[in-house]
Amino acid sequence: MSFDIENALQILEHEVQNYQVPVVDLIAVQTRDPFKVLVATILSARTKDEVTAQAASRLFAQAATPQALAGLDESTLQKLIYPVGFYKNKAGYLAALPGALEKNFASKVPDEIDQLVTLPGVGRKTANLVRAIAFHKPAICVDTHVHRIMNIWGYVQTKNPLETEMALREKLPEQYWIRVNSLLVAFGQGTCRPVGPHCERCVLASFCPRIGVTPRKLRALPKGQDAPNLLETTAIKRMISWNVNGLRAVAKNGFTEIVRDLAPDILALQEIKAVPEQLPDSVREMAGFTAYFHPAQKKGYSGVATYSRIPADTVQHGIGDPRFDEEGRVLTLEFADFYFVNCYFPNSRHDLSRLDLKQEFNLAVQAFVKGLAIRKSVVICGDFNVAHTERDLANPAANVKNAGFTPEERQWMDVYTHEGWIDTFRAYNQEPGRYSWWSYRSNARERNIGWRIDYFFVDPASRARMVGADILDDIPGSDHCPVVLDFR
Ligand code: SF4
Repeated sequence: MSFDIENALQILEHEVQNYQVPVVDLIAVQTRDPFKVLVATILSARTKDEVTAQAASRLFAQAATPQALAGLDESTLQKLIYPVGFYKNKAGYLAALPGALEKNFASKVPDEIDQLVTLPGVGRKTANLVRAIAFHKPAICVDTHVHRIMNIWGYVQTKNPLETEMALREKLPEQYWIRVNSLLVAFGQGTCRPVGPHCERCVLASFCPRIGVTPRKLRALPKGQDAPNLLETTAIKRMISWNVNGLRAVAKNGFTEIVRDLAPDILALQEIKAVPEQLPDSVREMAGFTAYFHPAQKKGYSGVATYSRIPADTVQHGIGDPRFDEEGRVLTLEFADFYFVNCYFPNSRHDLSRLDLKQEFNLAVQAFVKGLAIRKSVVICGDFNVAHTERDLANPAANVKNAGFTPEERQWMDVYTHEGWIDTFRAYNQEPGRYSWWSYRSNARERNIGWRIDYFFVDPASRARMVGADILDDIPGSDHCPVVLDFR
């Protein structure tokens, strides 16, 4: 059955009224100025809307016209638009823009695609968006959301945005051309998200074919203290690991609400930096869970905690080596048919003064889980404090000698994976640019300058028990985000 596109877009027209308006649309409505729409569109590529809005506001305060823009040099432009993605390249485009407009278009923004794409920094996507929303002329701007969602709906079957644009030009009724981008950007940011789309609350759920989609499998927490029958071996258990970088701090910032939304069956936390007595009751004894803690002896340092909706059969604190166990780094729960190991690997430190210790810890944990796997399945998760390969961090070349990406740390992980332990995220996702930690400095999270250092691994014999894995990079509260494994 073919997808009813007109019905879907009309439903979304109503639906997105309550969503955040994409920043370029907002600037178009507020300014009715093609020059500002063009500049904002250039700024917005690979940049979050809030960052684009602030950068555009700073820039327009000094350069609201091509003539004023011509008066700013490239380094001033860099400072004004920082931290938008690729700000150095974009500053170069903006510096060249007034000259290009003056030379060929009498300092006016043209409205034809062929003309717009001759301007610096303007590709087909930008040209279509400017023509559509600044001039209200028929054009289809196909960005990642439009391309992705049109394929999810099966309305097109295309490999890239250009193919999608051409296919839509053939079949999408022209009355929707101008609006389709704004609708699907808002919808793609709010509901049909690239990672974990909210199918459970989607207005199109009854007729969307969900082609290629792995939806969130969220379940509501049970009422009261009654746990569901997760002891059945066939039940899918949602496991979440999160380095919270201080449980007391995150507890003040919506921690229990986040847990309620994510609805894990087992939640592993690292770097809790607290003993249970320092936590509020609502966190120490979170409703619906049995909580297990292994804090460090040193106050305010390290420590792990695991919350489980299924009470564990046995609990092991540490791995039997006092050097590591006094730092509260490993907590193992045993269930009927698997072990769950929550682990906070040491940081080898900026000066690599703890690299040797970390390598010893790595080998000790490796031997420990290998021993467990002889008896039953093993899930090990946590902050491993190492990015394995070049696609696991944004700037590999600049970090080859830095903690978390040294050859020694990476080689250990090579050995670990060569033994057959499965990096569950990579079993489902080969994309670069998916990270679980971002520095607090330099707006690194906004710019997605991050590292993937938080993992779920399973033992080699348990591949068939994996159901899905992902990184929940839209969850705030820490410099790490949670990572997830669905396990049968
Ligand atoms: S049902 Fe899911 S996949 Fe389909 S449009 Fe809604 S959120 Fe996207």
